[in-house]
This record gives sequence, C-alpha cells and structure tokens, in this order.
Amino acid sequence: MSELTKLSLHQIIQQLRNGDFSSRELTTEYLKRIKEIDPKINAFISVAYEQALDNSELADQKLIRWRKDHSNKLPLLTGIPIAVKDVLCVANMQCTCGSRILENFTPPYNATVIDRLITAGVIVIGKTNMDEFAMGSSTENSAFGITRNPWDLTCVPGGSSGGSAAAVAANLAPVALGTDTGGSIRQPAAFCGISGLKPTYGRVSRFGLVAYGSSLDVVGILGQNAVDLGLIFSLIAGVDSRDSTSVDLSVPELDFPSKFSGYADKRWTYKPNTKLPLDGLKIGIPEQYFTDGIQPDVEDAVKKGIKHLVSLGATPISVNLPHTKYAVPVYYIIAPAEASANLARYDGIRYGHRINSENILDVYLKTRGELFGSEVKRRIMLGTYALSAGYYEAYYGQAQKVRTLIKADFDHAFQNVDVIAAPVAPSTAFPIGEHRYDPLSMYLEDVFTLPANLAGIPGITFPVGFDHNKLPIGMQLMAPNFQEELLLNIIYRFQESTNWHKKKPVIS
Ligand code: GLN
Repeated sequence: MSELTKLSLHQIIQQLRNGDFSSRELTTEYLKRIKEIDPKINAFISVAYEQALDNSELADQKLIRWRKDHSNKLPLLTGIPIAVKDVLCVANMQCTCGSRILENFTPPYNATVIDRLITAGVIVIGKTNMDEFAMGSSTENSAFGITRNPWDLTCVPGGSSGGSAAAVAANLAPVALGTDTGGSIRQPAAFCGISGLKPTYGRVSRFGLVAYGSSLDVVGILGQNAVDLGLIFSLIAGVDSRDSTSVDLSVPELDFPSKFSGYADKRWTYKPNTKLPLDGLKIGIPEQYFTDGIQPDVEDAVKKGIKHLVSLGATPISVNLPHTKYAVPVYYIIAPAEASANLARYDGIRYGHRINSENILDVYLKTRGELFGSEVKRRIMLGTYALSAGYYEAYYGQAQKVRTLIKADFDHAFQNVDVIAAPVAPSTAFPIGEHRYDPLSMYLEDVFTLPANLAGIPGITFPVGFDHNKLPIGMQLMAPNFQEELLLNIIYRFQESTNWHKKKPVIS
C-alpha cells in the first residue's frame, strides 16, 4: 500500500502544506488504490477519476503559491480527497441513493455540507455505496451490489453507510461523509474498525440530503480518529437558511492558522479539573444496554473500554433508561411512516427513471413496482399503513408518545452524568446473507443505536478491540444535545493512550 493512503486527515493537511507531496500525487494514489482494491469491496458506486485529478491540479496551484510566500489564504482542506455517501447531492455527479429509481439522477446543486467542504478545499473523489435510500444495516440492500467488509470479505460492512465505512477502513479515502437515521454511521464505523460521529439532530444542515426519516436524519462523519472527525465536523456544522430545522448555535471554532502546526493537540483537549486527563467526567452505564443477547466478546471489549476511560480519571455511574426496549418498535413505525411520505416523490415523472405505459396510473405502478427494491417497498407499505386513517393514532401517534418517553429517559440520566457509554451493536460484523430472509432479525441489530436518533442526541463510536474472529468491536458514547465537542475530546483522550484506532485490515 502506498504510504500516502495510510495517512490520517490531519497528517495529510500538515504534509501537503509542507510540500512533502502534491495534491495530484495524493489523489492519484487514492484513485490507483480504488482501481486495485475496490473491485473486491465495492465501497464506491461512482468514482470521479478525471474530475478529481483536474481539481487536484487546481489545488496544487494554490498550494504552491501559499508555500512560496503565504500570500493567499489557504483553506484548511485544500487538495484533500474525501468520499461521500451517495445520498448527498454533489453538483454534476450522479446521486443514486443505492436505488435503480435514481440511477440516472444528476443533481445540479451541492448539498450544504458539500458546499462548505468544497469551500474548505476538498476534492470529492467518489460516491459511496449504501442500502437503498439508507434503509438497512448491512449495505446488502443496494441496487449496485453489496459492499464487503475489508476485515473479512465474507462479512457485511454494516449499513447503511457501509460504503463510506469500508472506504475509510480500506484506505480508499482519508475520511467520508455518511448519514445516520438509526445508526447508519455508528454501526458501520464499528463493524469496520473506524471512528464515526453522529451529530445532534439539527446541528448539520440536511439541505441536499435525500430524505429518509426527516425527524431522524443527520449528516455525519466516518474517519480514522477523533481529530479527523472534529476537523470535518467544525466545517460542516452550523445553521443554514436552507434547512429550517438547522439550529443557530455557535460551532466549535476553527481558525485557519497560516502555519499549520500543533493544531490537533491544541484543539481536542478535555480540560480536566485535576491532573488525570478525564478527571471529573461522569460516565453513565445503562444496564439496559448490557443484556443477554449481546455477543460476549463485544460486552467484554466495551467494558474494558469503559475501564480505560476510568483509568484516565472518569467515574462510572449506573443509569436507568427503562424505555430502551421500545426503541426498535417505535423507530420501525416512525422511520417507515416518514419514508413513505418522503418517497412519494419518486413517481417516474419528477426524478430519475420512468417506465412508460398506457396511462399515468400504470406509469406510477410500474416505475415504483419495478425500480424500488424489496426493503424499500416493505417500508413504504408499513409506513403507509401506520399513517392511514383509523390507524394513525394507534401506531404513529402512539409511537411518537413513546419516543417522548425515550427522550425523557436520556434527559433524566443526563442530570447525573456527562455521557452514556454503550455497545454500538449486539454483535460484530455478521456474514453476508445472515439476515436475508428475516428482516425483523436485521432490525434488532439496531437496538443500541436507534435511541440516540429518537432522542436527537449526538453519538460517537470508536474502536475498542477485536472479537475471536479478529473482527473489530466498537464502543459508543452518547451526550446531551450539542455536546459533540465533549464526545470528541473524550475519544481524543482515549485514542491518545490506545492503539485500536490504528489497526488496519489486510485485504487479500
Ligand atoms: N438500520 C436502520 C434502518 O434500516 C438505520 C438506517 C440509517 O441510519 N439510515 O432504518
């Protein structure tokens, strides 16, 4: 593997500025590696080979000028390639959402997060594979083939942002954007041995994100470590007039130092009130997340992760989240209900593919019948049923009430603790096909990630070990609304004193 593709995002920033290599060299190395490795993994739906190289040359001109006399202001990520989940609009790049129905859809505009990152200098190298319309936990529901886990090609990478997770784990991109409606950043990050941040609902604009469950969807980041997540987070977060649910709150500030040095250490330091790095931090341990169904290796590694945080000064305190058991049924009513409304727009008339027929009704029926995959159709039917007259109160209305109770559990717990620690999923990456004929068993995989989406709170995952099959194990921390910086600080401290996040798969 080329040394360049092994670097983390903040190392790349520093070395590009130093002139150790050019953006063209860096971009070429990633593209070469994608050509060589991605046929085995299928992390990408599309790769912008030519466009990425053209953009790297433009970036190099800026870098050369800056290195000479620092006369131009150099955006932080100038010339750095990133991967983007194929559910976010990037102008003039195909945006399929993993679906045949959008196979030929090319948006003419950028999502706000893409605009912000392009202003910061990034090069979008390609669009990553995903479960169709982000519905799934394994990236097996894509119309463009399954993605494989770089740690074991017979296993899933998790989902729905499985392409983004696999791309980062396999060094096909230094960092990637994903979305998390019910765990789709955190769970694939855990399955692929990388770090992932799901920000607070409303913290990052959803403009240009193809909607799945509008009250749950959040754009976030998959990367190698806390600093890389924090860098991208600081750039994409913040109010956006084009998304009325985005929140007008200040974002951890980033100055763009003319000389990039020592930045990482200055930025992500939890300020302890005594001498240990995490002194004063109270970590909640919810008994409901350490239950019988959980794989013993996972429980063990997560408990060791908590112990490590304790050794850095944190105090564990048990907390009670009694409504956790309702998260799966509540989510699987609310998300399909919202999806059924959001997906009504794909009618063969306004976007993407159309299957022509005699009359308009047949056009709808054929287009939607033939071009949506089976999981998407299942959710549309579930959601339409839950919203229909006579059932609305019994299902959607009731689910929203229980959602409030789940949120209240967290509010209550956060009166006593700063963050809550938990496993990300009951198991490590499972074999491809394991849940193929049993959608309910797949839904149960989401049990530990759904509550944060239902409550809107931020969550972060980071690697804490391996199971007996040498598959990565992730651990999750959740925090009160808008406390992403606290989460990043804690992970930064954890990663400063451990090596799990540095382990890489050998792809054979
Ligand atoms: N697995 C969950 C679902 O299928 C969550 C997916 C997501 O976060 N996009 O809905």
